Amino acid sequence: MPVFFITADQIHANAVTITGPLLDHLRASLRVKPGERIWVGDERRRRCHIEITHIDRRALRGTVLDQRTGPALTTPRLLVGQAILKGERMDWAIQKATELGVAALIPLVSEQTVVRPKQGRAGAQQERWQRIALEAAQQSERWDVPTVAAPSSAMAFFAAPDQTALKLILSERETGQSLGSVSFPSSPADTITLAVGPEGGWRDEELAEARARGFLPVTLGTRILRAETATIAAVSIVQSRLGELG
Ligand code: SAH
Repeated sequence: MPVFFITADQIHANAVTITGPLLDHLRASLRVKPGERIWVGDERRRRCHIEITHIDRRALRGTVLDQRTGPALTTPRLLVGQAILKGERMDWAIQKATELGVAALIPLVSEQTVVRPKQGRAGAQQERWQRIALEAAQQSERWDVPTVAAPSSAMAFFAAPDQTALKLILSERETGQSLGSVSFPSSPADTITLAVGPEGGWRDEELAEARARGFLPVTLGTRILRAETATIAAVSIVQSRLGELG
């Protein structure tokens, strides 16, 4: 059952209006017709089964037949600060992290990041990443779409004041604690932040700054993983330990 993401403001009482890229997708690719029924979901973890009453180039209109709300969250939210990776690897990291249930991704520009957001293109790139997260969330039947934030410098990300219960930085060269043995918070009101370095690894100053700001360096073992592999492995370990995977 595909669930198409819309925003809560597209639902008024019993009527749903869909415009923009989703309308194009439903019309041009899926060729939906009046009388057909589809599921839509919004950022409040609400899903509506709608019957399409009208569709043209400008808008799709539907009537809500049934509504459900996602199960309450029971585990901490996982935020991933991901150093920007080259091309497809970043797309891949965002897609897989979404499938595995992260709540938000923050693209980071670090000292050894090979690709930097191009001047004037940062907005378009963020939108593309957000779209990848949305499609992955849709495909994996999540109740919500993780947010992909605007890129931030790694140093600013480490220094940002926050309420995170546990902050971790994946570090391949330090004798950090093993991620599998860190003790995790358990309340859904808590947040766990995980920072993953770029292809070239973190600079010493970055690791020092992160540590000074309360990040705990953690290791995934003696093998050096590619950054995107490290992201998937680390998110899988955290989610498994939280009971969200496996
Ligand atoms: N080129 C670097 C390796 C970078 S790996 C070097 O040779 O030093 C890219 C990122 O993945 C790292 O910054 C780290 O965040 C993560 N990573 C890779 N392997 C890891 C491991 N075994 N333990 C913890 N983090 C790891």
